[in-house]
Amino acid sequence: MNAIKKLFKTFLLWELLKGLKLTGRFFWAPKVTIQYPEEQTPVSPRFRGLHALRRYPNGEERCIACKLCEAVCPALAITIEAEPRSDGSRRTTKYEIDLFKCIFCGFCEEACPVDAIVETRVLHYHFEKRGDQILTKAKLLALGDHYEAIIAVDKAVDAKYV
Ligand code: SF4
Ligand code: SF4
Repeated sequence: MNAIKKLFKTFLLWELLKGLKLTGRFFWAPKVTIQYPEEQTPVSPRFRGLHALRRYPNGEERCIACKLCEAVCPALAITIEAEPRSDGSRRTTKYEIDLFKCIFCGFCEEACPVDAIVETRVLHYHFEKRGDQILTKAKLLALGDHYEAIIAVDKAVDAKYV
């Protein structure tokens, strides 16, 4: 009996009809796919993207060269050199992040006592030549200046859930 059933199903293209039924069911259903990159999905305020170094509103850099981020980084991606300024404050003379080593764990951001190093929600970036993957202090500060408005909003949202 089973063999006859199977034979009939083969001649009637039963599996094909089942497949078309499924296609038909989803043909008019709302689409869940998006046309990336023209369309983008929402990004969480806690997204761990490109790093940035922030400044205070008066323009002074936040980083006090405590090196906690360097110590906590599991990938040894951060390199810091520091020395005291003429006014006695400690500031970095070199702050670099190697993005080829970074695993975007966010530990540096969590360890920072002054919210200086942050991971922005920026996820679209690329490198064109050897060495571009090193985020120097100048690059990090420039990123911080450029994205400060978004970073401040994300930090405020984040603070609500801590
Ligand atoms: S995100 Fe993690 S791996 Fe990357 S620099 Fe920060 S601590 Fe290191
Ligand atoms: S970024 Fe933050 S944790 Fe890292 S050295 Fe500067 S102040 Fe310390």
